[in-house]
Amino acid sequence: TAHYFEQIEKNQHLNAFNEVFFDSATKQANLVQQKIENGTAGKLAGMVIGIKDNICYLDHKVSASSKMLDGFVSPYSSTVVQRLLSEDAIIIGRLNCDEFAMGGSNETSYFGPVKNAIDEERVAGGSSGGSAVAVQADMCLAALGTDTGGSVRQPAAFCGNIGFKPTYGRISRYGIIAYASSFDQVGTITSSVSDAALLLEILAGVDEADSTVSSLPVPRYAQNLTQSGKKKIAVLKETIENDALDPEIKTAILNSIETLKSQGHEIEYMSFDLLDYMVPAYYVLTTAEASSNLSRYDGVHYGYRNTQAESLNNLYKTSRAEGFGEEVKRRILLGTFVLSAGYYDAYYQKAQQVRRLIRDRVEALLADYDFLLSPVTPTPAFKIGENMQDPLVMYMADIYTVLASLAGIPAVALPLGNNKDGLPLSVQLMTKHFNEQELFNLSYRFL
Ligand code: GLN
Repeated sequence: TAHYFEQIEKNQHLNAFNEVFFDSATKQANLVQQKIENGTAGKLAGMVIGIKDNICYLDHKVSASSKMLDGFVSPYSSTVVQRLLSEDAIIIGRLNCDEFAMGGSNETSYFGPVKNAIDEERVAGGSSGGSAVAVQADMCLAALGTDTGGSVRQPAAFCGNIGFKPTYGRISRYGIIAYASSFDQVGTITSSVSDAALLLEILAGVDEADSTVSSLPVPRYAQNLTQSGKKKIAVLKETIENDALDPEIKTAILNSIETLKSQGHEIEYMSFDLLDYMVPAYYVLTTAEASSNLSRYDGVHYGYRNTQAESLNNLYKTSRAEGFGEEVKRRILLGTFVLSAGYYDAYYQKAQQVRRLIRDRVEALLADYDFLLSPVTPTPAFKIGENMQDPLVMYMADIYTVLASLAGIPAVALPLGNNKDGLPLSVQLMTKHFNEQELFNLSYRFL
């Protein structure tokens, strides 16, 4: 813990932490030390973990990087925090992110952007940018993020880490500040596949506080990492043969395909012609859910309040107007629009139908293949400010990650080394619902 405190101090300028939990982390570290000496320590004893600032931890502040939650202290712990602590992990602080996890560059945070440690003029990715940089710059061993449409995988890809999102329903969402509830999942950012596997083993599994969690048994992922065999992998053709894909990412992915072949796996290029519908469907559905989820921030129940307001209505309006940032407002407006009486059928319902179509197509592919392969991002980390003027450009950058989110399948971003400017490159592997074990095994062998 002392080592990580030092690293955090040294890397303050990267802006990865919204708050360091000096007192509670030190206390927990001492407690764990004693348990280790007594031989009673849990599976994560001494593992120092940062949590994204949208994950609730009893008696600690949580802000979702928004002015709206200014000063809010959580009255309870999320299930994931409870499970980390019960296995003797040490939670070192809360990590910067896009406001309410809405963004792909960590630039919508009320606390300012996180800088990529490899090139400080570049973004960390988002929305879990703080989580990625905290692991990248050795400010904690592993970090929790949340992934609604790529927010763990994309920043991991920009920072050279392993970003893992489980099946929807594998990990409890209890105590996670909601963005789009039918997409949100907690994910991990780590430097090794075995850490990701061990964390999932602890975090996953049934929870009476979240009825969307699956009751399927949780395998001991980390202990079975070496079993493998010859697998069938479908490369999603349109994602690779695409002019928008950065040439160095393409070359790195083609090389990774050769590696997988040399490890005995069978690779085939398969057409996936729904690519154009991915981003529109994702943004219609997630903004709709967000507009509903964020209606609870009314200036009365949580965090920020305009104390000058003269009437109740005015209190709601001004607190929301002043508490939310631009991107969050844009999404609440869009979501309210697609749900409104005259447009519901044309947008929201249509997007739900498209989601079903995408899910069916993905399941059909995964009936014949064990894994799907695609890029994580169309480009390496871009410059801070570069994509902020045009939200559509920013949204389109999610094109490869939202597939797994729309279909609810597990996916991992794996590092493939760096380009000529030293920026990390990566590849994405996806698999069937609840097939995390095989995804870990393939990744473990591949890396
Ligand atoms: N970039 C995507 C978005 O802005 C993904 C965000 C996320 O997964 N939380 O919605």
